[in-house]
Amino acid sequence: MASTATAQLGRELAAIVGDAYVCDDPGALTGFAIDGVRPGMWVVPASAEEIAAILRLANERDASVTVAGGFTRQSIGKVPEQVNILLRTHRLTRVLHFDPGDLTIGMEAGCKLGEILVRVAEKGLLLPLDPPNAAQATIGGSLATSSFGPLKNGFGGAREYCIGVSFVTGDGRIAKAGGRVVKNVAGYDLMKLMIGSQGTLGVITSANFRLFPAPKQTATFIGEFEDCESAMEFCGAVRRSPLSPICMEVISPRALEYIGDSSEAWSVLTRAAGSDAVLERYRRELSANTNRELVGAEEKRFCNGVREFAEAVPRKHQNAMLMEVHLRSSAVCEVLGAAEQAATDHNFLFASVGRAGLASLIVALVPLSVDPPVVSQYASVVTAIRKSMPKDGSAVVVRCPREAKPYFSVWGETANDMEAMKAVKRALDPNGIMNRGRFLF
Ligand SMILES: Cc1cc2nc3c(=O)[nH]c(=O)nc-3n(C[C@H](O)[C@H](O)[C@H](O)COP(=O)(O)OP(=O)(O)OC[C@H]3O[C@@H](n4cnc5c(N)ncnc54)[C@H](O)[C@@H]3O)c2cc1C
Repeated sequence: MASTATAQLGRELAAIVGDAYVCDDPGALTGFAIDGVRPGMWVVPASAEEIAAILRLANERDASVTVAGGFTRQSIGKVPEQVNILLRTHRLTRVLHFDPGDLTIGMEAGCKLGEILVRVAEKGLLLPLDPPNAAQATIGGSLATSSFGPLKNGFGGAREYCIGVSFVTGDGRIAKAGGRVVKNVAGYDLMKLMIGSQGTLGVITSANFRLFPAPKQTATFIGEFEDCESAMEFCGAVRRSPLSPICMEVISPRALEYIGDSSEAWSVLTRAAGSDAVLERYRRELSANTNRELVGAEEKRFCNGVREFAEAVPRKHQNAMLMEVHLRSSAVCEVLGAAEQAATDHNFLFASVGRAGLASLIVALVPLSVDPPVVSQYASVVTAIRKSMPKDGSAVVVRCPREAKPYFSVWGETANDMEAMKAVKRALDPNGIMNRGRFLF
């Protein structure tokens, strides 16, 4: 965009939100670069109406828009073509309703997830949305990236307990799907669509959730196994038993380093919640395969370490690559074996943590070569891992150095529902202004 057009756009945005909430200072914007692409300006709306006006204006001016919540998962996706407007959500922070008796809460999309978790915990309730870095992540960003953590094992993903979403479509229409109450069918599918849409369809402005009673007591059992196969066999046996742990994580030996522990063995974390009798049953039935029971502060430290794995690795090694791998349980060991071999072949360290029961894993690959590593190494290791994947699995690179991104597809195989996805995109964002260039098309 030419600078006079940018200045004009800035003035028009200021007319919508006020001068104080538009910034085009390059110094301030540098900290908001996405894969090195600095936004032309940022704008901070305070309502769905202001967002609708911003998006209508952006359509008229053919300006691309990227939404920024806590800025924790902007590493996902291709390098953006350009970001004319960064739409920040930190003025959308109202809790709209909180009904502990009805087990529901609704809030605006810019609310920090961590603050909401504390608020519901004070009433003895649980929102089982537990991705890493909840202190920074916003509700809108967590839904847009379909984020999750270890509790997905026991409670499912956000699509299961998010009961309503309000959003503004890419072409500036205010819309609503689902509702405030748990039994609500209308618009349900549209709501599911926004969850995981990666900011490509519109701006989520608020969301309603069903809550759960917080477990009164929990215990975490750690088992050690000589290889991935025996760890996964144990997980399979637990899944087939009447036990229903709230978390079940399989952890590679190297991953323990980032969790603050160490062992040469593969570990399985099984977290149980319930009465004394329930926990006693876990003790009895798991005793042959577990060697440690963690409770209290020790349990909290270990479980937090597992949840934060995907944050801890890049914090320690800025050139680390992270892949989110989803596949059938029966394929886990083969794919992790291939990942470990690919890491050795291409001079990376391999570590993995994931939801064993759901076969949703984070695979971390840390380059061993001197800084900066050769970019083609990343492509080689990704290709080798994808070759080992079953057809119905997916392996998405959710973080890697920007320089490596042009050498492979971060999204992997083109989805076979591509035509349907394009039709959805045309319906909600006909001019393609939302997150231009970062998703599949
Ligand atoms: C234009 C568009 C149209 C869409 N249409 C539909 C739809 O019709 N029905 C529906 O349920 N969802 C739809 N979505 C949402 C998208 O398919 C979800 O992101 C995807 O379903 C998440 O997959 P999951 O639930 O299996 O994995 P999750 O566990 O929710 O997420 C896993 C990760 O997969 C990645 N991912 C997201 N989409 C893709 C993809 N297409 N290919 C590869 N990796 C991806 C993300 O990084 C995500 O964090 C659409 C999204 C877009 C942008």
